[in-house]
Amino acid sequence: MTKAFRTTIISAIILSAGLSAYGKGKAIESPVDFANPLVGTLSNPAFSTGNVYPAAARPWGMNFWTPQTGKNDDGWIYSYYLGISYKMRGIAQTHQPSPWMGDYGKFALMPVTNGAAFDQDARASWFSHKSEISTPYYYAVYLSEHDTYVECAPTSRAAAFRLSYPEREMSYLVVDCNCDVSEMRIEGRRIYGTSHGLGRAQRGDIHKDFINYFVIESDTDFDSTATGLCSGKGAVVGFKTSRGQKVGLKVASSFVSFEQAERNLEELGDGDVDRIRQEGKDEWNRLMGRVAVEDDNIDNLRMFYTCLYRSMLFPRDLAEHMPDGKLVHRSPYDGKLHEGHLFVDTGFWDTFRSLFALVDWIFPEIAKDVQDGMVNHYLESGFLPEWSNPCHRNCMIGNNSASVVAEAYLKGISSNDRDKLWEALVHGANDYLHGTASGRLGYKEYNSLGYVPCDIGIHENAARTLEYAHNDWCIYKYGKAIGRSEEELAPFAERAYNYRNIYSAEDHLMRGRKADGNFAENFNPLKWGGDFTEGNSLQYSWSVLHDPAGLADLMGGNEAFARNIDEIFDMPPIYDESYYKGVIHEIREMEVMNYGNYAHGNQPAQHIAYLYNWCGQPWKSQMRTREIMTRFYSPTPDGYCGDEDNGQTSAWYVFSAMGFYPVCPASCQYAIGSPLFKKVTVSVPGRKPLVISADNNSKDRAYIESISVNGKTSTKNYFTHGQLLSGGKIKFRMSEVPATGRGTDPEDAPYSFSRE
Ligand code: CA
Repeated sequence: MTKAFRTTIISAIILSAGLSAYGKGKAIESPVDFANPLVGTLSNPAFSTGNVYPAAARPWGMNFWTPQTGKNDDGWIYSYYLGISYKMRGIAQTHQPSPWMGDYGKFALMPVTNGAAFDQDARASWFSHKSEISTPYYYAVYLSEHDTYVECAPTSRAAAFRLSYPEREMSYLVVDCNCDVSEMRIEGRRIYGTSHGLGRAQRGDIHKDFINYFVIESDTDFDSTATGLCSGKGAVVGFKTSRGQKVGLKVASSFVSFEQAERNLEELGDGDVDRIRQEGKDEWNRLMGRVAVEDDNIDNLRMFYTCLYRSMLFPRDLAEHMPDGKLVHRSPYDGKLHEGHLFVDTGFWDTFRSLFALVDWIFPEIAKDVQDGMVNHYLESGFLPEWSNPCHRNCMIGNNSASVVAEAYLKGISSNDRDKLWEALVHGANDYLHGTASGRLGYKEYNSLGYVPCDIGIHENAARTLEYAHNDWCIYKYGKAIGRSEEELAPFAERAYNYRNIYSAEDHLMRGRKADGNFAENFNPLKWGGDFTEGNSLQYSWSVLHDPAGLADLMGGNEAFARNIDEIFDMPPIYDESYYKGVIHEIREMEVMNYGNYAHGNQPAQHIAYLYNWCGQPWKSQMRTREIMTRFYSPTPDGYCGDEDNGQTSAWYVFSAMGFYPVCPASCQYAIGSPLFKKVTVSVPGRKPLVISADNNSKDRAYIESISVNGKTSTKNYFTHGQLLSGGKIKFRMSEVPATGRGTDPEDAPYSFSRE
């Protein structure tokens, strides 16, 4: 399967005129041609190689479109597998951020020719990946059981369809809302419908007035119609296609109203699929082209631009343009219309780590809108979100919205109300929104004892302590930057050291600690879950992003710190799954990679390989990150090594391939790894381009011999955000052997709070 897939893609690339410069030492002209949405779709609940679906979309679009092979309500909306369970059931408008979270506001279109078959099994069709075209901006597939070719080209809030039917007395179009719709009607050549998408559990927090209104406009008369099918879940319309013909559809939706959905139809103009396909391609290229790679390794190019595509989907902007030019969004919290942006469908526990660093650097115009949206989250719900989907969900831990806010501001991206965000940060650190992940569960104990105890009924308490301590440092930094008083800042600066309170010197690791001050009994560093979140103590003990030097002090110095990291990579991939009473997929994904207890398939471990930069052994970061890039990622359907998670695992690759990674995002520094490409040029409008080159680079030369920044040799193990912004030239020189004398001075290490 993998081999066939590769052949298909290579053929597609050779055929593309836009890639004529490939391999000739020039930047590629059409980077989107290298992005493959099918990468990571060979996944199921027991084993994830990405857990993504092939979204056809515009960058940060309000709606994505995806082929649907899974049954309605199955989070695995599209799976690469072939077989009776994986027939095509429709092309769906989706807002799903992850199979584990489920969808909302979803509806699907499906052309059928075997009678007016509405039922999702009766209408399902065989298809082949060889008769399928999946790109970031266009999706097409041949539905063999209906002898129909379906094409879809989206804008942000609409999509153009072309259905190439065979000769039939009557061919049909199924509209499946998969929810108890409040309305479904047909007027002339238009179908109007709504979808709440409250199909899965835990959706009670979405306001009842948060409804997806959609309109489908056909260019062909309906020769038969039926609505109210399956308890009001859909409609079927028929076309006499006795001579065989193409039917064009314009589809648009809105969370505001039917009238707004009709206005959103205007995004499509005349609805010409070919033109919208080209416009989508141009938009992706315009934005992706800000990072222009020159290299001759086609697999690496494909992985890089696939990851860049995945880094440009979430979070999703719910804002819509009203006729008076105002931007508004329907609030999923209070159901009302509010002015401005609201970005949703991201889990900050995952994405704070590097996704927002990428957006803040490469797409500052979006980053500014995201921050304005953060203000709106707080104004409309009383809290900043932690897992936004589209309301506050009860999933994962931490108060990492603090990092997303602080990082942006410290990198020069200011929201429209920085004092309101300060208020939101302070509030979130001292309150908890019951039944969600927002605010801080256990904040009272954390504030009084300096840690979240493990014996007061709060699970994942040690992980919470570590993340709250980092979040406190972020709040301190933000408050300082906007000029808050020493008195206001002091508690946050103090609590930033709270990671020390759960460190066990005996084990040289973090542990659960009881309210009476004693550590929890029966400690097993291999045990996943319990006091930690989807990880064990070996992995989570490194979650001191703002003070690795302070952590090294606790461990007994740099040598011990480095040895402890070595141990994680060098040990066997053994584990204790007893907390979960079974092997969760994240554990399995660690085990099969045979890379010790390093679990790149889940987010809390993803910075560990970069930590050697803090202890005078940067060559180990270079060797490890190069190995992770080349062995844990591949541009194939099983291309990721675990859940991709809304751009985070992709952004890790995008940064790492450029040669650095934001271990502590709000420090505005990037720890250095091993650049993958010969040359990368970053061009952001209004800025001087940054050219990152790596002389002597190859598969076998992962080590850095020397670095110069604008002609000046640097022994530092990091770059600053200022260096990236001011542009110029970063030159790496690569080598087969580690330069064990370079980057070893304490002053070469990146930022640590305790060294300030
Ligand atoms: Ca994850």
